[in-house]
Amino acid sequence: MGIHVPPLLPNEAERLAALRDLRILDTAPEAHFDAVCRSAAALFSVPMTSIALIDSDRQWFKAKCGVTADGTSRDVAFCAYAILSDDALVVEDATADPRFAHNPLVTGEPGIRFYAGAPLVVRSGIRLGTLCIIDTKPRTFSEAQRTQLEDLARIVVAHIELHRGRLVAEAALEERTRSQALIAASEERYRTAHAKLERTADLLLMAQEAAGAGVWEWSLDEGVVRNSPESARMYGFPCGEGATAWVDVSVAELAARVHPGDLAQMRAIYGDALHHTTYKLEYRVLHPEGGNRYRWLMGCCRILRDEATGQLLRIVGLNIDVTERRTTQDALEQSEARLALALDSGSDGLWDWSVTTGYVWYSDRWHTMLGYEPGEIEPNIRSWERLAHPDDIRHARALLTEHFEERSASYVCEHRVRTKTGAYAWVLSRGRVVARDEHGAPLRIVGTYIDITERKASEQRIAYIARHDALTGLPNRTVFHEHLEQRLAEVRRGRGQAALLCLDLDRFKTVNDTLGHPAGDELLCQIAQRLRTTVRESDVVVRLGGDEFAIIISHLDHAHQASKLAQRVIDAIGQPLDLGGVLVTVGVSIGIALAPSSGDAPEVLFKNADLALYRAKDFTHGTFCFYEAGMDAAVESRMQLELEMREAVLCGGFALHYQPILRLIDHKTVGFEALMRWPHPTRGMIAPDAFIPVAEETGLIVPLGSWALQQACREAASWPDDLRIAVNVSAIQFQQPGLEESVLSALAASGLAPNRLMLEITESILVQDADAVTACLHRLKGFGVLIALDDFGTGYSSLSYLRRFPFDKIKIDRSFVREISDPGAAAIVRAVVGIAKELGATVTAEGVETNAQLEQVHREGCTDVQGYFFSRPLSAAQAIEFIGGNMVENS
Ligand code: C2E
Ligand code: CA
Ligand code: CA
Repeated sequence: MGIHVPPLLPNEAERLAALRDLRILDTAPEAHFDAVCRSAAALFSVPMTSIALIDSDRQWFKAKCGVTADGTSRDVAFCAYAILSDDALVVEDATADPRFAHNPLVTGEPGIRFYAGAPLVVRSGIRLGTLCIIDTKPRTFSEAQRTQLEDLARIVVAHIELHRGRLVAEAALEERTRSQALIAASEERYRTAHAKLERTADLLLMAQEAAGAGVWEWSLDEGVVRNSPESARMYGFPCGEGATAWVDVSVAELAARVHPGDLAQMRAIYGDALHHTTYKLEYRVLHPEGGNRYRWLMGCCRILRDEATGQLLRIVGLNIDVTERRTTQDALEQSEARLALALDSGSDGLWDWSVTTGYVWYSDRWHTMLGYEPGEIEPNIRSWERLAHPDDIRHARALLTEHFEERSASYVCEHRVRTKTGAYAWVLSRGRVVARDEHGAPLRIVGTYIDITERKASEQRIAYIARHDALTGLPNRTVFHEHLEQRLAEVRRGRGQAALLCLDLDRFKTVNDTLGHPAGDELLCQIAQRLRTTVRESDVVVRLGGDEFAIIISHLDHAHQASKLAQRVIDAIGQPLDLGGVLVTVGVSIGIALAPSSGDAPEVLFKNADLALYRAKDFTHGTFCFYEAGMDAAVESRMQLELEMREAVLCGGFALHYQPILRLIDHKTVGFEALMRWPHPTRGMIAPDAFIPVAEETGLIVPLGSWALQQACREAASWPDDLRIAVNVSAIQFQQPGLEESVLSALAASGLAPNRLMLEITESILVQDADAVTACLHRLKGFGVLIALDDFGTGYSSLSYLRRFPFDKIKIDRSFVREISDPGAAAIVRAVVGIAKELGATVTAEGVETNAQLEQVHREGCTDVQGYFFSRPLSAAQAIEFIGGNMVENS
């Protein structure tokens, strides 16, 4: 393949004419042109540069550097291609370019591989030649470098214009000396030339300004630095006549303009210049506008030596004003330094990640935060990947990518990292990209780490507390509603059945009231534990509050699974509990509602399970009950009862009956026990067992008990003086203030002597807050009122209670009397009688129904009897008759 012949431009003739007019071809070398070539060689580190002018059949070098020939034929000239457009021609590898692959300058000497040539454009369309740089190795050439080359080309053009100006001036002078007659004309031409000269100077200035670059040359033997006008301007040296001239200054003058802080660095570099060919530094020079301001210059320099001796000749350089970049960089460095300072004194760790290399600097604090010695963690991103919790990495990466892609202002992520001990710590990591490449890809990101383990722990603790019962640790109502809602949503979508069990402890209130709250709490905890172990893993046990619990059976095949579980729960809870040495037994009632048959909405199902629970409690305690349609009515009737009871308390709808108590030795009536009755307008006479518990639950027992005291005392006041009245007092009445006042006012209102009133209390009162209750009992006793211990032999019965207070009477429960033929029961009765005698108390046997029982209790030492054998409870009128001896039953 032959060599390519470069094409010609349409205005080739005009171009050649312009070139000839310049009379620059084959002229002697000129320093300014040479300087540009040297600067270009230094700036781009290329072995060859030249200013080539394209003649009709040749290229001729006005200036050159590293090139021996004065020119070449136009056919082989790269520059002949470079003048075809206003843009620089760049050939990164000539062997790969069909235009040049077979060019003898490529295939032979000097072996061109890389070529970049910027056209020298004097007027639009007129390109005289190029400023070109050549290398014997292929190279890449950035857009920025292309611009630099084009800027240098503009400097060359400015010199060419200057040359033209000089020609004109010279011609003018010639004319003037040749002919006086032509002086006027030549003066005129001179003026024109002068104007042109100024214009040219302007052009040069503009070119340098556009490039933002100043060129200088320091010839070491002369000790003088020659500055291009732009360079002089940067240093603040006056540019003198015809601003295009280069400005010579001494090194000392120049040094005086440099910031003192940067001089040492400059001196070190120049001192070391022997070992270098190029260097680059940034330094500050006084602002030309004066004051104490400085601007930042970046200098790129090349050190030129005598090729033969190696002796330093001069240094050429190019200055660029980088004030703006430095200002931003300084600000960044300052803020980074501030950040580092602030953080080092705090509890933060720092990191600095070079995204492109993967290198990460971790601060000492970061090491110690994780229990490592400073420097122990490998400074790369893989260390982070190793230490971060596997479950957190994805999330952290996503956040990072978001910031990398500039979709977030900063990277903020909370994640776990493994400490040296192997445990995980929570950290808050914050970072920001501080450097990006020209495409916006992140180069460097810096950030901090704060240890938030404690905060996380308390957050988790709070979240746990919000969802769990503090006492038992069981999930709470919130969790219950969530689960129920979720499971029922599935049921509604046709996914199986579920069951809801509502639980209510029986007798919990009694334990709480009698043994005290700590014991009640302990009981609830033990019950919770039993529930946990009784249900399956898939079932959910929650504490709804108080002594109410619930169980959600998530997956149910048959209803009997629910009843089986309910029975298991009843059996488990029914086992005796050990509360600090006291054995207590409580029971549980359970209401069950099935979904979807008894409802598939949470509120409905819960309401129905609750109704079933009411029903279960209505039966004997310790049972379970399924919801059935119509239960609402039963519950309504119970609520109705409460309502009516309130009314009856207000309107005096209750009555007292009186059961005689007889002395055993002579069967003489010694007194009566007042027993409450509720003569109901539609339900008939309601026995106390049916309404006293409700009265106690609702608190109505307080006004009701007070009424009973008033009524009983008034009635007894009408009896013979030797007859006593016994009134039952509930534990609830002892808890509320006002019992003593109530007793005193009953005595005062009736005029009954205190020693004719006996209060019957159960031992459960003594278990609860024993000191306060005993003190109250002592005060009552101080009024002269008598105190009886009722129902001995039930509940927590223990002989030790007998000694807690000097009772006037002990009443043995009728269950013992019924069993009195049993030697065990008889022995207990005998023991009680023994203690009672010691204490000076009488002993009443309750519920004596037969003569045999009567004889037996007599034998065991009881002093009084009460029971159907002598009389059922009587109305007030009947009681008076009984006293009169007219109505003695069974005798
Ligand atoms: P309590 O204090 O043990 O009263 C004795 C209960 O035994 C009474 O039942 C009485 O009718 C019954 N009873 C007496 N003799 C016999 C007998 O030979 N055989 C049988 N099977 N029972 C006999 P009542 O009147 O139904 O009272 C039940 C409970 O209601 C009382 O037991 C007491 O704990 C409570 N109560 C009654 N009135 C009051 C009151 O005004 N205030 C308070 N707080 N409780 C009361
Ligand atoms: Ca009683
Ligand atoms: Ca009793």
